[in-house]
Amino acid sequence: MSDYPLASLDPQFYELEGEKYGMVFDCPNCGVPGGVFFTNSIPSNKNIRPAGIHWQRTGDTPETMSLTPSVKMYGHFHSWIRNGMLSVDSLFECLPK
Ligand SMILES: [Zn+2]
Repeated sequence: MSDYPLASLDPQFYELEGEKYGMVFDCPNCGVPGGVFFTNSIPSNKNIRPAGIHWQRTGDTPETMSLTPSVKMYGHFHSWIRNGMLSVDSLFECLPK
């Protein structure tokens, strides 16, 4: 298990009309980006993009963010994002580049 500050993984928000409704960040092992969508956008707590899988979010910045449930980046790792830290609790499965 390893912990990585989310802010160190080049986090970028998906944004529409001033609402941040999701986020992409890099796999800490191989650098491939993966994304999540929020149930509750920043700042208005709206579900901007209702289709598909969403994560309940607390914290408005990468430094403070927590997501529920856990985050699996398929082909890479399984993790939890809590209080701005990505906690990887699986082996990395990243494909060779
Ligand atoms: Zn990877």
